[in-house]
Amino acid sequence: MTGRGGDLVITGIGELLTLRPRPGDPLGIVHGGAVVVEGGRVVFAGPSGAMPPSTGDRIDVRGALVSPGLCEPHAHPIFAGSRAAEFDLRAQGRSYGEIQAAGGGILATVRATRAASDEELIASTCGRLDRLLAHGVTVCEAKTGYALDVPGELRLLRLLGEAARRHPIDLSPTLLAHVPSPDRPREETVADFCSRAIPEAARLGAEAFDVYCDAGAFTLDETRTMLLAARAAGLALRVHAEQFTHTGAADLAAEVGARSVEHLEQLAPSSIERLAAAGTVCTLLPGAALTLRLPWPDARRLLDGGCTVALGTDLNPGSSLSESLPLMMSLGCMQMGMSCAEAWVGVTTAAARAVGRDDAGRLWEGSRGDLVIWDAADHREVPQHYGVGLARTVVIAGRVVRGA
Ligand SMILES: [Zn+2]
Repeated sequence: MTGRGGDLVITGIGELLTLRPRPGDPLGIVHGGAVVVEGGRVVFAGPSGAMPPSTGDRIDVRGALVSPGLCEPHAHPIFAGSRAAEFDLRAQGRSYGEIQAAGGGILATVRATRAASDEELIASTCGRLDRLLAHGVTVCEAKTGYALDVPGELRLLRLLGEAARRHPIDLSPTLLAHVPSPDRPREETVADFCSRAIPEAARLGAEAFDVYCDAGAFTLDETRTMLLAARAAGLALRVHAEQFTHTGAADLAAEVGARSVEHLEQLAPSSIERLAAAGTVCTLLPGAALTLRLPWPDARRLLDGGCTVALGTDLNPGSSLSESLPLMMSLGCMQMGMSCAEAWVGVTTAAARAVGRDDAGRLWEGSRGDLVIWDAADHREVPQHYGVGLARTVVIAGRVVRGA
C-alpha cells in the first residue's frame, strides 16, 4: 500500500465502534455517528452533529454498523496443495498415523509448496487475502513455514513481499520455524535459522520471528536459542505455545518479551500472571481447536487474569482452513467465555497490538482510514450471526476496496 490515501465521508452510522474505551464501554460506541477520512487518515469520528465541513466522497450508510478494519494476528496464507482427503479421514475418526501413512500431514504441504512456481504461490496467497478482505480484514500477519529449509523459507518471505505489493491488505511478514526439516539433523536446522535465516529475513523486511514449540516440532531449548537470535536481529517475537502438549513455551515467551504467544490450549494457570506482567498478547485460535477437537483455549481466565486476548483464524491447510475472523469471534463468544465486546477488541485493538500496528483497529483522529460497513445495525449481531459474511463494504486508507 503506497501513496497518499483517499478522502471519504461516512454518514448515517447507526453504531460507530471507535474502540476508544470509556468507563463501561470498551468499544467507545457512538450512536448516530460520522467518520471523515482525509489523505487516508481519520480526521474525525464522532457524533454527526459535530462533524466538520468536508469535501471527500460521501457514503450514507443508512443506520448500519461501522467498525475499524479487522486485524488478523495469526495466518499461514502462503502454501500450495490441498489436504481435503486428510480432513475427510479425520472426520471419520482416523488417527494422525493413518493420515501420515495416506500422505497427509504438514510434509504433504511442504512437498506441494516446494514444487509450486512463484506465480502460483503469489496468486493463491492473493486469493486467500481476497477472502480475508471479504470478511473485513485490512491488516494481516502472514507467516512463512511450509518450506522448512532456509533457502525455501526465505523464498516464501520474498513471495509474501510480492503479494503485499499486489494486494491492498497491509501484510506484516513473519519468518516461522515450523518443524525441523526432515532432510538434515535438527541441530543444523536450528543453527541455520540463527546464523542465516534470521539475519537475512530481517534484511528482507520480516517484522517478526515465530517458533512452533511442541512435541513433534521444536523443543523448548531450541526455541529459546532461536528466539534470542531473532531478538538480537531486532525482530519482534512470537511463539506457537502449549497447543498439543504443555512445554513451558508460554513462560519462555513472557521471559524473552515476546510480542505474542499463540494457541494456549494446554496453558498452565501459573503462566497467566507472567503473560499479563510481560504485556505479551495472547492470540487464541478457535478454528484450530474446532478442527482438531482440542480443548477450547480459556479466554475468560486469561481476560480475568489481566491478559490482552486477540483472536486469529490460524488460516492454514491442515488445522484451520478459514479466512473468517467473524467466525472466530462467534466461537470466542459461544465456546470461550468472551463477551461480544471482548471478541471485538480481540480482532481490533488487541490484534493490532499483536501485529505491531498501533494506528489500526481503531477509529479516531490520527488512526488509519480503514473501516468496515456491516450488514448489521448492532455490533452483537456480527458474532451472533455465525458462519456468514456480514461485511458489506471494506475501506482501506480512505478508499473503497470491496463492496460499494
Ligand atoms: Zn499457526
